[in-house]
Amino acid sequence: MVTTPSSTDAGPPATTTAFGATFVDHMAVAEFSGGAWGTPRLDPVAPLALHPAAHVLHYGSACFEGLKAHRGVDGIVRVFRLDRHVARMQRSAEVLVLPVPPTELLTQMVTDTVRAGLDQVPEPPGSLYLRPTLIGVDPNIGSAARPSDDALLYVLASPVGDYFAGGLRALVVAVSRQPRTTPQFGVVKTGANYAMALGVTRRANEELGADQVLFAPDGRVEETGASNFVLLDGERLVTPALTDAFLHGVTRDSLLRVAADLGYEVEERTVTLDDLVAWAARPDAEAALSGTAAALSPVGQLVLDGERIDVGTGQVGPHAVRLRDALREVQTAARPDPAGWLTDVRP
Ligand SMILES: *Cc1c(COP(=O)(O)O)cnc(C)c1O
Repeated sequence: MVTTPSSTDAGPPATTTAFGATFVDHMAVAEFSGGAWGTPRLDPVAPLALHPAAHVLHYGSACFEGLKAHRGVDGIVRVFRLDRHVARMQRSAEVLVLPVPPTELLTQMVTDTVRAGLDQVPEPPGSLYLRPTLIGVDPNIGSAARPSDDALLYVLASPVGDYFAGGLRALVVAVSRQPRTTPQFGVVKTGANYAMALGVTRRANEELGADQVLFAPDGRVEETGASNFVLLDGERLVTPALTDAFLHGVTRDSLLRVAADLGYEVEERTVTLDDLVAWAARPDAEAALSGTAAALSPVGQLVLDGERIDVGTGQVGPHAVRLRDALREVQTAARPDPAGWLTDVRP
């Protein structure tokens, strides 16, 4: 059951629902209190009872993950790269001085949530988007310089359709020389980072018609507000080498492997704005954004210092489409699992 009026319809939800606004009606929940994690339970999705002084509401003690379960071509539902997402959430919790959820606990909570929503996992290209969330709940506004002793962990699940339901569209991306966030939070999936990128992204949207902002502090390309960045052509996939200043995307990592398996040369290196402009000028050049929600989104145009620069033809390119399809084939078990990336969830 999905918590929308249309949820009485039989079968998987339509693939036209807005991304992230429809939820499976149960979520796994665990509390950390008195220095220990309690037993996880399955609760109905409902407003949380939080004290108005809760640490998260004042001092930003929150982190999350975003991962997906896909219905395979054989009908079996599988979570994609669960171990990597669990590890990243543990790292986020550590940086935010929140209680670190043990691997077994978080793994079980994700699979419990998927199991509770098994009949709500849409057919591909839809999927079940999973949102583990960890927040500090100490009711004490005197705790500005102290971590929260108590925390709440829950895993929301949202049936989602194809991110590009109206067809794949080449995005317009404005380039900023500002950093997206502070370097010490670069690898952390925490709300504060998105709040920081919001103003500049909205301005780019309103003033330049840009879909996203690509952050390139000191002229070195990092990522957009919620995606990693890749350059493509018929031979290569090039992406900025990992640093602590930007998020280590699981999609990015997966694409590197899938592209190599398809015969592309993969390069992780520094990408300067000069490199980017030179790349875009070539007729066969492509660029794309990578992330769990939208998989691989082609970029057709950059806006840099007021100038509009087409990437290659400015259209959706064949290599972004090919890699995007190949990744989906891995996720839906239509192509062999390269390295234990899929976790089955059985009834
Ligand atoms: C989530 C996210 C990504 C993409 O990570 P995936 O693991 O591929 O989903 C990239 N950058 C930022 C800032 C993100 O929040």
